Amino acid sequence: MGESDTGETATLSPDEAFALLGNETRLAILRTLAAAGEPLSFTDLRNRVGIRQGGQFNYHLDKVVGHFVDKREDGYVLRQTGKRVVEAVLSGTLTEDPVLEPTVVESWPCPYCGAPCEIRFREEHVARRCTSCPGLYGQRDTGGRWPGDLGALHLPPAGIAGRDAQTVLESAFTWSYAEWLVAAKGVCPRCSARVDHTLLVCEEHADGEVCDACGRRKAVGFRSACTNCDTTLESVLSMHLAASPEVLAFLTTHGVDPLTESWDWGWDYEEEVRSTDPFEGRFTFTVDGDELTLTVDEDLEVVSAVTE
Ligand SMILES: [Zn+2]
Ligand SMILES: [Zn+2]
Ligand SMILES: [Zn+2]
Repeated sequence: MGESDTGETATLSPDEAFALLGNETRLAILRTLAAAGEPLSFTDLRNRVGIRQGGQFNYHLDKVVGHFVDKREDGYVLRQTGKRVVEAVLSGTLTEDPVLEPTVVESWPCPYCGAPCEIRFREEHVARRCTSCPGLYGQRDTGGRWPGDLGALHLPPAGIAGRDAQTVLESAFTWSYAEWLVAAKGVCPRCSARVDHTLLVCEEHADGEVCDACGRRKAVGFRSACTNCDTTLESVLSMHLAASPEVLAFLTTHGVDPLTESWDWGWDYEEEVRSTDPFEGRFTFTVDGDELTLTVDEDLEVVSAVTE
């Protein structure tokens, strides 16, 4: 790893980046430059960070210059990488130790049985469960699943600050839809690297509420895994198909906004596995009594769309 005051960046391994940022003064430098929004001189930056000793401050500043900070003629400024660090820190710590205890949200009932749902927030996810039926993933409270689990939606901790339970759920849907949309196009929503899609098909699927073999209500799901970072999205196939022009056109025609609404169409739909090798499946979505039937191949591509 190297340092530079010429605006060049030496490549950092993830371990080196974490080691470099594992220091209060260095993070304070990044946050101070982000808050300033303009170039700061050495003295100004040091005063704002609140370090009296020039030598000690200089040592830490040197560590971040070239990687997260640029030294220009008019002063020190954050690089894009530095801005991303500050964004990540702020998205995780805007609220202290955010917790949302299980809360019933009446206005978005269970898409399968109509009973009220309950949500809770932990580990950057809003989990939602039906208070009456097995939901999407059954009654087993194992492997982090919640009885009646309807799935968990990613939301940074900052997303629960200043919101009630209903708007937390709505925000999580908006945030997650944007992530699914980006991932469906093969781009990681967190780091922009290439995403690999995998079909998850239960070959012994039993119809009914939740299948004993796979523990899911739906036989077909997908996993989108980033080839660079740890991001993995996994859900029912509708969450992937929601990015297709066919589904978007169908929803728009019916006045449904997938960014803000409860996705009843995307939970309760018909599926038919027509072939497993190669895979071909048929999925029928219903809005206001109208149906959209998509035929999907093993690459998760829509090969035909029929509206009735
Ligand atoms: Zn239910
Ligand atoms: Zn199954
Ligand atoms: Zn990624």
